[in-house]
This record gives sequence, C-alpha cells and structure tokens, in this order.
Amino acid sequence: MGYCPVCRYEYEDGIVVCATCGEELLDEPPGPGVEYVELVEVARVADPSEAELLAGELEAAGIPVELADEHGAELFAGAGTVQVRLLVPERRAAEAGAILASLGGKEKH
Ligand SMILES: [Zn+2]
Repeated sequence: MGYCPVCRYEYEDGIVVCATCGEELLDEPPGPGVEYVELVEVARVADPSEAELLAGELEAAGIPVELADEHGAELFAGAGTVQVRLLVPERRAAEAGAILASLGGKEKH
C-alpha cells in the first residue's frame, strides 16, 4: 500500500504519487507526529514561468508554496501549456491571496 503524506489517502500497490496532491506516497501511513496540512489552491495560471514568479513572491513572504499541474502531478520546468496550480497551506491562504491580489494590480497586459 502507499499512503499520501499530505491527504493521507490510501493507494493500491504500484501507485507512487498521490493523484490529488502530487506527493510521493509513503510505504507506511504517516505517524501521529506528522502535522496534517491542508493545501488549498490560491491561483491557477497558464504560464509556468509566471507560476514560478508568483511562488517566489509568496515564498519571499514566508509562505510555503507547492506547484502542481491540473492533474496534481509534480511540476517540472518547461512542462508545457498545462494550467499550473499554486497550493499553499490553508491557514496561509488568505495571506497568500492578498499578496497575489497586490501583484495582480501591477500586472501588465
Ligand atoms: Zn494526497
């Protein structure tokens, strides 16, 4: 069995990455010492380089950010035209949203 360290979903043998979180699965269930962190989507952008930029801004503010594609798979540079999701811990979502909103105001089109 595989266990997602983020959402704790149980997967059958052979599955190595959580379909929801894109996290690598653990062989054993996460122990009680592992803090459960709910990730929420705060933005979705079509341009991976823009996603990296936004993630950088959030990380600069001390907010951990996960990038994932729309299928939850791990994102790697030059992945193409998939929509990139920015995920942050739920308790930082409002803060992240405010930062993204302030950045959005400066965006040029
Ligand atoms: Zn998961």
